[in-house]
Amino acid sequence: MVKIWKELERYKGREERCLTAIITTKGCAWRKCTMCSYWLESRNVSEEILREQVDQIFAKIDTKLLKIFTSGSFFDENEISRDLRQYIVERALEAGVKKIIVESRPEFVSEEKLKDFEALELEVGIGLETADDFIREGCINKGFSFSDFKFAVEKIKAFGFRVKCYLLLKPPFLSEREAILDVVNSANMVSKLVDVISINLTNVQKGTIVEKLWERRLYRPPWLWSAIEAIKRIESDVEIICDPVAGGKIRGPHNCGKCDREVVSSLKLFSLTQDKSVLDLDCDCKVVWRKSLEIEDFSRVPLL
Ligand code: SF4
Ligand SMILES: [Zn+2]
Repeated sequence: MVKIWKELERYKGREERCLTAIITTKGCAWRKCTMCSYWLESRNVSEEILREQVDQIFAKIDTKLLKIFTSGSFFDENEISRDLRQYIVERALEAGVKKIIVESRPEFVSEEKLKDFEALELEVGIGLETADDFIREGCINKGFSFSDFKFAVEKIKAFGFRVKCYLLLKPPFLSEREAILDVVNSANMVSKLVDVISINLTNVQKGTIVEKLWERRLYRPPWLWSAIEAIKRIESDVEIICDPVAGGKIRGPHNCGKCDREVVSSLKLFSLTQDKSVLDLDCDCKVVWRKSLEIEDFSRVPLL
């Protein structure tokens, strides 16, 4: 039930091994975002099963970094109880873990819950998706505002913890060019508030509005070139990461098929090194991507 793997993360300016775990919980309480079906992974699990999943994580841990994700919010009482969170902290301290990375919607973040993590370093990822309230509501249906996000960020920062802000590249109903612009503007707006920005490239998940549009050829996941373009245009020196899910696949962010693998690897390498020069790549399909930037503004449907 718990998925566990190890990967490299950036930690204090260096690469560091991280154990990543996705715990099965009751899942996201919101479940209304137009691009997300993570809640399909949820199950009505008992406290005992949740604790067993946590034990499985600590049976495997030999890293300083621990990412614990659910298909929702780590700080939602209905997914992870306070007892279980305190148990995770205890076990993490025993195991020599230095930093825990979690995700939550802003409404579940509170001083009381954060206080339990004081003995550790904590990073909380929040899916703001865009700094534009109109796009977040109209295109994503996220159900919270930029000021809700800022309020949660203030609480997290007051404890000296880190905030990771997820931005979504290409929500439905935006053209390819508007999508780049939205990520760049959003990144520039949040860069002073957060420690790291993770650019998430929309992929077509089952049972979502994005899937319905995609099936009718009214939506195309972003070009990988658009991610590179957005990263290059962000003016701040805030840490940026981008690890495209389903990169190169038809349901994921993709280019022409020939260059996808190289571009995805370069985005991953950039995420670890922050060296923008690794993103200086080229392929014949850039011409088509540039045309898409022009045409989608008018056609409102993908060029291909
Ligand atoms: S994107 Fe996050 S808040 Fe929205 S439905 Fe998915 S898990 Fe819930
Ligand atoms: Zn190409």
